[in-house]
Amino acid sequence: MAHLCRELLLRASRVQPLYGRQRLCFPTRTVGSRTPRLAGLLTERPAQRRWTPLSVSTTERIEPDAGGSADEEPVVHILWINAGLSCDGDSIALTAATQPSIEEIVLGGLPGLPKVAVHWPLIDFESGPHQGADNFIEWFFKADRGELEPFVLVVEGSIPNEALKEEGYWCGFGNNPATGQPMTTSEWLDRLAPKATAILAAGTCATYGGIHAMAGNPTGAMGVADYLGWEWRSKAGLPIVNVPGCPVQPDNLSETILYLLYQVAGAAPTIPLDEMLRPTWLFGMTVHEGCDRAGYYEQGDFAVEYGSPKCLVKLGCWGPVVKCNVPKRGWINGVGGCPNVGGICIACTMPGFPDKFMPFMDEPPGSTVSTAASTAYGTLIRKLRGVTARTVDKEPEWRTPGREIKTGYRPTW
Ligand code: SF4
Ligand code: SF4
Ligand code: SF4
Repeated sequence: MAHLCRELLLRASRVQPLYGRQRLCFPTRTVGSRTPRLAGLLTERPAQRRWTPLSVSTTERIEPDAGGSADEEPVVHILWINAGLSCDGDSIALTAATQPSIEEIVLGGLPGLPKVAVHWPLIDFESGPHQGADNFIEWFFKADRGELEPFVLVVEGSIPNEALKEEGYWCGFGNNPATGQPMTTSEWLDRLAPKATAILAAGTCATYGGIHAMAGNPTGAMGVADYLGWEWRSKAGLPIVNVPGCPVQPDNLSETILYLLYQVAGAAPTIPLDEMLRPTWLFGMTVHEGCDRAGYYEQGDFAVEYGSPKCLVKLGCWGPVVKCNVPKRGWINGVGGCPNVGGICIACTMPGFPDKFMPFMDEPPGSTVSTAASTAYGTLIRKLRGVTARTVDKEPEWRTPGREIKTGYRPTW
């Protein structure tokens, strides 16, 4: 996080905003000067202006013509669709983010952030059907009509193939007011993708299909990039940004949202992604490279039962080939991280998850050779280290009482 912020500060002067006519100077203001303004924007009451809980309806704080006048700082909307084939686990995970927290993003607690309005089913008081008690979904229709600019579309859950059947639908989000019929998730993607400044796929279902896209499933589920095309680019020229994980590691998601907001505001260069559209600084290393137990692996010392502090590869850990930073980053506030705390890595961030890594509790096939080599090497190395360890695990012999100096010092008295 600190590294990310430093990097953004260094590069801020070389990039352009993806909205509006004027460029945000970065940083534009201090946290202290920003928060009251945003708090007022969130909920303005005649007699009393105060902080509004994050869960208060976002339409209450940003009027629907949210594009603003020419003199106003633009508001960046985050439209969150969790209506793919999803368990909402990634929404839940985001509530645990700390670096940054979702509260810091939404309430403007970080310097240089544009004003943000989050339309997120998990916390929004607005819900219900079109023209129901409230109008959460109206923000999505506004975006579809081109009245919301700019917006970042976050998709949670995999996209089923609605073309596979004659009638019915696999999943949807609200009704089409013109027909009264459900709007499928893929129809929302068709409508909103061309208008979005950026699309972020949150969680392995949205990125690569995940559990719902296992072999034998009836829905033909797939990830957002499978659906829109891996070469898809937003109108701002951005590829889809994939943040996999089942669920996604909270800070990986909040940090990527933060990066995209800075980029939309012109305060960050194009987000660096690998060939599977993952942020490179988050998914550039393997679980194994960050694992607390890697020392045991290197010495060929493997656990044969749960509860052991040793390497878990023979119990089914896929860490050596899985791209994920969780052992380094921990899970919540730096604590946890699957193998660090005793759980095998089941490769939940990977495009081949889950099929290519099942059955989960079996030793990965490739590990037989590598662990055999590691055992041979490790057995010898452990013996040699044992000799060295016994030597260095003693005090030097001159540390004794008496009138004789045994340290090698030559006295001048
Ligand atoms: Fe749920 Fe995992 Fe899919 Fe996220 S990726 S929606 S946590 S099943
Ligand atoms: Fe590597 Fe898994 Fe062993 Fe950790 S527990 S050292 S990730 S194989
Ligand atoms: Fe998923 Fe493995 Fe990362 Fe844990 S360590 S989050 S199981 S990829």
